[in-house]
Amino acid sequence: MNKIKRNVLAVISGPSGVGKGTVIKRMFEMCPSLCESVSATTRAPREGERDGVEYFFVSKPRFEEMISRGELLEYSAHFENYYGTPKAFVEEKLKSGDVILEIDVDGALNVKKVYPSAVLIMIEPPDMAELTRRLKLRGTESDEKIALRTARAEYELSKKDKYDYCVVNDDVDGAAARILEIIRKEKEVLS
Ligand code: 5GP
Repeated sequence: MNKIKRNVLAVISGPSGVGKGTVIKRMFEMCPSLCESVSATTRAPREGERDGVEYFFVSKPRFEEMISRGELLEYSAHFENYYGTPKAFVEEKLKSGDVILEIDVDGALNVKKVYPSAVLIMIEPPDMAELTRRLKLRGTESDEKIALRTARAEYELSKKDKYDYCVVNDDVDGAAARILEIIRKEKEVLS
């Protein structure tokens, strides 16, 4: 049997406040050849977010048009906004390298249905109390929103058994290195 390499679609999820963004940023610093998928969303940009970089910011009618034309690999609605993965964008990026997709659990499980070879990775907080503390530290959300996000976090973590891997974010460098190692191993397929 020979070992051949393939480009991996790594789908990374984790509750809001778990530090996904920081871990993923560190992964890109450690491994600049990774490609990142850019999702489309109907939510308003946060300060400093740029169209086509963090997200493609689109109107609700445009998003609904993308749904009806089958332009999305998956999509879901939460916090009264739509989020979705542009299909052509991901397929194009996969031709040149490993692709990182940062999406919620429902989206991730839908991607796995379409691409069974996608590797699902859940980033977990060291514990829930720590997560709530991190959400409060962020300081951009009201108490009501923090409560909503905490409930959502519990829901997301309840799905972790459906993931291929779980990585605890107790240390950013360590979590980033462990995910890169998972991708490296998953690149090798037996033929
Ligand atoms: P935020 O508004 O904080 O950037 O993201 C809110 C949630 O939307 C996060 O859980 C994030 O992972 C999820 N999300 C971002 N992009 C996508 C996407 O393309 N599809 C789905 N299903 N969820 C997404």
